Amino acid sequence: MTRSSRTLAEREGGIFILSAPSGAGKTTLISRLLKIFPEMLLSVSYTTRPRRPGEVHGRDYFFVGKEKFAVMRARRGFAEWARVHGALYGTPRSPLDRSVRRGRDILLDIDVQGARKIKKLYPRAVSIFLLPPSWQELEKRLAGRGTDRRENIRRRLENARREIRAIVRYDYFLVNRQIGEALASLKSIVVAERQRISRYKALRRQRSALSRIYGLKADG
Ligand code: 5GP
Repeated sequence: MTRSSRTLAEREGGIFILSAPSGAGKTTLISRLLKIFPEMLLSVSYTTRPRRPGEVHGRDYFFVGKEKFAVMRARRGFAEWARVHGALYGTPRSPLDRSVRRGRDILLDIDVQGARKIKKLYPRAVSIFLLPPSWQELEKRLAGRGTDRRENIRRRLENARREIRAIVRYDYFLVNRQIGEALASLKSIVVAERQRISRYKALRRQRSALSRIYGLKADG
């Protein structure tokens, strides 16, 4: 790599937020996306909700008690935190800042409250909302999941209705009609966002960077 192309390549890591009502197919989409972009990090949240069968501490979540969560919060360890479905969830701040600094993209699987707070704190974060193909389909998927009690399903459906209303505050949306199609759209968003001028320190800070690198005359 030449010196000039290295200067251009110095990009800050992008923050990609993916929100969806539970049952929209977010988990599958995320694992498929990470296979396409293995260098992308996945932010692991802290939560006070009980671990479900098959979930791994440190991979799916950091499962902690209310006291530990409160300590993290008091130490300003979370970039954002929220109460979702009756439990507390928080995005740890340091992995986020580290990945932006080191030019690694990071994906956040968080709800609409979290998305709003992250966008405030990191204005270049990209928010994407995943929609289920239809309301009927969402009901069917939640009922068929079998991991939640009836009361929980009712609460998740209520939340879904509220969350879908918040879609207007997002940058992009995807409809999960067919996973391959949703994945292709998501991949395009990531690829395009990586080329955003504002992510390149050299291009952002120095008006004349392009002219220096390419030996062009600065414009005005
Ligand atoms: P679940 O308990 O089904 O894994 O997640 C429930 C909801 O909490 C999902 O919508 C998920 O995106 C959201 N969530 C997970 N981690 C966080 C977090 O750190 N912050 C916020 N605000 N929401 C989260």
